[in-house]
Amino acid sequence: MNTAADPAGVFEKRAARATALLDSAPAVAEPLAFAAGLFQLQGRLAAAVFARHGDLPFTGTPADFPRLLDLQASLLSFAAEKGPPELADAAIARQTEEPGTALSRLTVYWSGEREAREDYLSRAFLRPYAEVLARAGVAAERPRHEGHCPACGSAPIVSYRKELPETNGGARFLVCGLCGTDWPFSRVRCPACQEEDPVKLPGFQSDVHKNVRIEVCETCKHYVKSLDLTLDARPLPEVDDLASLAMDLWAIDEGWTRLEPGWAGI
Ligand SMILES: [Zn+2]
Ligand SMILES: [Zn+2]
Repeated sequence: MNTAADPAGVFEKRAARATALLDSAPAVAEPLAFAAGLFQLQGRLAAAVFARHGDLPFTGTPADFPRLLDLQASLLSFAAEKGPPELADAAIARQTEEPGTALSRLTVYWSGEREAREDYLSRAFLRPYAEVLARAGVAAERPRHEGHCPACGSAPIVSYRKELPETNGGARFLVCGLCGTDWPFSRVRCPACQEEDPVKLPGFQSDVHKNVRIEVCETCKHYVKSLDLTLDARPLPEVDDLASLAMDLWAIDEGWTRLEPGWAGI
């Protein structure tokens, strides 16, 4: 199937997975319900972005943003209405922003500056655009870092292991939270600082979420959450990530910093 031609379909699958998890994970029903709505909205945005790309191809640079800006209103009203209080306040403040301010905010996010990484709303809005670019083979003009997404330069939002022929215990993949690309990565390496000493890269698990591992790096203090798909291949890593939010709270409490926040905002 030509997935580039159905940019909304992948978002709809994420929304359906988040909805399916709602019943089994009542403790995180709120973030899952919010994420399901967000993925649905992103699917509609992806379809709109894809259509505009068909009219006149996007370039992968901030020069594209004036052609996207009118789409941001729907994301801001959704976040204002359904988001947790802090996010809703940020969305309300942005609803009355001058277009010039809104454009420079998106440009700062796209530049990949460290402080801008926490900008949940910009990432949520640019996600469908970045994913359409990646699927259409348009290079995103953003800084690249070792261990980060080869297609757009973002830090991995989550990691997973899956069985491949000739891998013992599963191959490790990283998932990009901006453009949706996943790529193979060494099992013994920190994607933030490239530490390769296994002693400094311990993993933590809990009895409650047996398929989840918090993969930390003692050198840079970052962690990436890993989902084991060798036991159950149904999970969509960045969606199922939300079901084990308790493990993020534990890791943060222990002093680790998540390399890239998940869709629950931490
Ligand atoms: Zn990416
Ligand atoms: Zn590290």
